[in-house]
Amino acid sequence: MKLKFWREQLQLANTWTIARGSTNLFQVIMVQLAAPDGVTGIGEASPIRRYHESPDTVEAFFQRVDPSQLSFSDVAASMAYLNSLSSGDMSAKCALNIALLDGAGKIARKPIYDLLGLGFRDQHHITSFSIGIDTPAVIQKKVLAAEQYPVLKLKVGVPGDREILAALRAVAPKKAIRVDANEGWKTKEEALSRLEWLASDGHVQFVEQPMPQTTPVADLLWLKERSPLPLFADESYHTAADIAHCAECYHGVNVKLVKTGGVSAGFAALKTARQSGLKTMIGCMIETSVLISAAAHLAELCDFLDIDGNLLTTNDPYAGVTAGGGILSFRSAAEPFGLRTNRVTAPVAAATAAPQTDNI
Ligand SMILES: [Mg+2]
Repeated sequence: MKLKFWREQLQLANTWTIARGSTNLFQVIMVQLAAPDGVTGIGEASPIRRYHESPDTVEAFFQRVDPSQLSFSDVAASMAYLNSLSSGDMSAKCALNIALLDGAGKIARKPIYDLLGLGFRDQHHITSFSIGIDTPAVIQKKVLAAEQYPVLKLKVGVPGDREILAALRAVAPKKAIRVDANEGWKTKEEALSRLEWLASDGHVQFVEQPMPQTTPVADLLWLKERSPLPLFADESYHTAADIAHCAECYHGVNVKLVKTGGVSAGFAALKTARQSGLKTMIGCMIETSVLISAAAHLAELCDFLDIDGNLLTTNDPYAGVTAGGGILSFRSAAEPFGLRTNRVTAPVAAATAAPQTDNI
């Protein structure tokens, strides 16, 4: 097996701001595995600054990998080898897991969703479209530009939360929304008062990560007992290993492939959550259609989808799953098997170090 990796610089349509900071550019790292018989698999890492990852840490991990230990015919053993190299590096492991499954699917002549036994109901699953933190005027512009998407995800967790929602409601009075506080509310009383205010809107489906991941369990239980809206863990749910804490303190979980370490571990994280009675959601970072399509292969295990990271960029170099009107479809995918993605533009060298993706 040969392993090749390179960076791509993604340009955002709008400056992206959440409770922890803002940026215009993101770098992702693509990886390609090629078997001697010519079968190839593509994967992508979108490193998360929140978890001390960067393009440099991802590339350092790839450089430690002995590609002869990886095989399209034994993804589980390949992942066991990768996990033996370090306990972290989840976005790098995620990239390799996607590439391994892409190759395995092509050999089996099946899409990954069939390889996993899940199937995929085309034009059934709906993704939300994210609106980052901004001035009221820009929020209104973004919401109007997102008219085709039936569900929006609104970023809050800053002092101007009320102005942000009011701006959205001025142009989309009744659209269904999900709210993500990204750990922005620091006390349980502050969180409860914001949740009660959001519930009074009447069209909020749930709230993601109202308080910091380090919040004491007693405070989270206090909040869960009183919250008028379902609470989803994101920064608090990395892998299936976090299930006991999340089942106790939340109503649902947001699984992201770059947190779990790939599609295989994402499958486990979603299944475990459902078995524990939690609602499930799959999310994303700023990503190309490679990571977004990988997440779409797990759609059948999800109650909610938030896989719009490629829609927020202006130079996605890949095609795969589409989301016209927010509805996911693989119908136009040129590749029938594996990840079902293909390259659509020539590689553009990532010239300079760019700020890294944060939890979206
Ligand atoms: Mg989130």
